[in-house]
Amino acid sequence: MGRCPKCGAEIDHLWFKENRASWYLFRVIDGESNYEYDEDEEAVPYGFYCPNCWELVCEDEEDAVEILERESNSPRAWEI
Ligand SMILES: [Zn+2]
Repeated sequence: MGRCPKCGAEIDHLWFKENRASWYLFRVIDGESNYEYDEDEEAVPYGFYCPNCWELVCEDEEDAVEILERESNSPRAWEI
């Protein structure tokens, strides 16, 4: 079990957000459905997000592993 460095919540997973625009312009052109990527849209920062506070906690997988594994090798606060 890991711990979120931002809110302190115990977490066993993180959410990974890709640096991909999530909005597409949808039109029907000549009877065909058409999705158009809006290149001007500001990219959402990619990285690993805490499932509790939804803060960006890190960007590298290495750091994400460290966050999730950190607590498993050390005694937990309530067990001391
Ligand atoms: Zn958090």
